Amino acid sequence: MAQFEVIKKVSVVIPVYNEEQSLPALLSRTIASCRLLTQSYEIILVDDGSSDRSIELLTEAAEVPENCVIAVLLNRNYGQHSAIMAGFNHASGDLVITLDADLQNPPEEIPRLVLKAEEGYDVVGTVRANRRDSWFRKSASKMINMMIQRATGKSMGDYGCMLRAYRRHIIEAMLHCHERSTFIPILANTFARKTVEIPVQHAEREFGDSKYSLMKLINLMYDLITCLTTTPLRLLSVVGSIVALCGFVLALALILMRVIFGPVWAADGVFTLFALLFMFIGAQFVGMGLLGEYIGRIYNDVRARPRYFVQKVIGTGSVDVDTDQENK
Ligand code: UDP
Ligand code: MG
Repeated sequence: MAQFEVIKKVSVVIPVYNEEQSLPALLSRTIASCRLLTQSYEIILVDDGSSDRSIELLTEAAEVPENCVIAVLLNRNYGQHSAIMAGFNHASGDLVITLDADLQNPPEEIPRLVLKAEEGYDVVGTVRANRRDSWFRKSASKMINMMIQRATGKSMGDYGCMLRAYRRHIIEAMLHCHERSTFIPILANTFARKTVEIPVQHAEREFGDSKYSLMKLINLMYDLITCLTTTPLRLLSVVGSIVALCGFVLALALILMRVIFGPVWAADGVFTLFALLFMFIGAQFVGMGLLGEYIGRIYNDVRARPRYFVQKVIGTGSVDVDTDQENK
């Protein structure tokens, strides 16, 4: 396996949306944690169109050179994942770590992530060790993890935890994806060769409320699924085939019963109508599924993700003739 490049610089990318209450603690804890690193570092805070004092606090922090803080201010609210992408665009480190601004992911874990990445991993993910969720949430997570594993070949125990580290080449690959809505942890996994997950502590949100309204959460869920796969479109044809098949079986059963029990049994053709209806509905679904297949392909082409990503090319492919020796 190719030798991994040494990590000389670490970039920390944090999206910030109306987090004035957590920012002071976030800044001091992240800076303190980064100072423990043996590498040089930069902390990139992306303001995602906050309307509170976040911008002022970020500007203040960025004006102190020892902090190594870069503030990237977006002109309006674009959403957490777009904000992180904007941060990636400004990151120059060999390893980029993402983190939430609400202190739910402890910044003290940064050195651990760096150490793990140095062992040669492309992506270091984290699993919330003390996550206490309902059975329903856990089984939903398991299902999504299964889908992620099938689509990317990498398992992901906890896709909701944004404390993650990505190598430079993974960041470059992600920056080459031009799709507008995306889900970064999954996108990264589609480009990663070696991934690992480490358990981290997870805290409750101390200040303010979650910045995700119900509508935004539903949106995020759709982003996650569409970023991952076009299988739901294919499901349309599967559902359609099942319905059509049921209709067909029902029709056969009806004919059989009609022959056995006579015309009175068939309720004046109401059941027959159902059987026919099922078959037509099924056929419609199959048609929609077929459309879905085309749309899926159009979608894949339109978002134009790079087909592959070359990490390194070794050797020049030609031999230089030593002209000096020929002259002697
Ligand atoms: N965030 C953002 N833009 C948004 C919503 C959230 O940049 O439109 C940031 C937010 O400031 C935080 C992170 O994304 O740093 C995660 O948000 P939050 O903690 O509200 O999500 P939750 O933990 O509830 O999933
Ligand atoms: Mg949070």
